[in-house]
Amino acid sequence: MTVEELRDRHVRLLRDRRVVDHLDAPAGPAAGTERYHTWTQVAADPHGDRLARLVEVRVRPAAYHPARLREQQHTLDALQPEVLHLARLAGWDTTTPVLAGVFPTGTLDGLSVPVPGRGLLVLVNSSLLDLLGAALTIMTAALPNYGSPPLLTPEQASFALAEALNAHLYGNGAVGARRLPRLSGQRAALVSLMARRGTQFVLAHEAAHLLAGHLVNAGRRTDPDTPVGALDARSVGWPREHEADRIAAVIMLRSLDDLGPRELEAYEPCLVGAVLLVLFLHEVADRLADELGVVVPFAGNHPPPVRRIQTLVEHLAGQVRTPRALDLAADVATWLEDRLDGVREWLRLVDGAPQG
Ligand SMILES: [Zn+2]
Repeated sequence: MTVEELRDRHVRLLRDRRVVDHLDAPAGPAAGTERYHTWTQVAADPHGDRLARLVEVRVRPAAYHPARLREQQHTLDALQPEVLHLARLAGWDTTTPVLAGVFPTGTLDGLSVPVPGRGLLVLVNSSLLDLLGAALTIMTAALPNYGSPPLLTPEQASFALAEALNAHLYGNGAVGARRLPRLSGQRAALVSLMARRGTQFVLAHEAAHLLAGHLVNAGRRTDPDTPVGALDARSVGWPREHEADRIAAVIMLRSLDDLGPRELEAYEPCLVGAVLLVLFLHEVADRLADELGVVVPFAGNHPPPVRRIQTLVEHLAGQVRTPRALDLAADVATWLEDRLDGVREWLRLVDGAPQG
């Protein structure tokens, strides 16, 4: 029953922060349900309309609208148990109950919140789930690897990515980007797999702090600038953050254990790509936030993403089982970097646009 107690604690936390009263209440007519219905519609409306849409995200009131909170919590509920199962397979076991709860923390890392006598509550930023899903969808639609011709041109992809990053940086975990059309077939399967594994890596990183005993003597750090005001998190120091990344990678690689050689060749690059994409997005979001003067909650709690990427790539190189395991991650990094000038241009235009 302790996980249920953690869930109650999570709902109380949401309520105290005026995020939502009941996680399980049926979602009302949701704000942010606007979507592109076809791929040709993406970024095809007039320049001024597109700019206005980016501006609108920034002038929304700060109050958190939990339109998609319930759906996101279902995702976390489905993903979290497998992480602890994989951890057990990797030799890390714990009797401490863990609940991953969606929360507008504003950071692309999870936040560990020990609840004395109950277990560990892991807060996952609602915006992380949105950004990861959007970036994967855009990438899969734009790269020719998954079907030719691609569904998006580079220019469409840059604007769609600008919408997603704009929503992450300014949406307070409440306002998302206009949603993209649904993918089908191989593309849909890839996005779903990589989104699942990327999110699990974030959960596994937080579980690793617990499993490796990092939380026992961890310091407390309060950040006053999250979308819901001051929040507490544990601060364990950079060496332990790198250790948590390494443990999380080992845990996630266990998800490939039952695969035959040919499946392993297909899936290992996706897993590695998903894990590193989380850190690539972190890096891009931090860089843009810095350029735009946006405050990033809990900045400095974790090592800079560039350092985490370097350390993790070195570690992964010694752990993977197939020769091309890191190739997809390299493609993803290049693709993201190539889109960045276009994204930056849009975000700067918003800065110069009349607001409110
Ligand atoms: Zn950490």
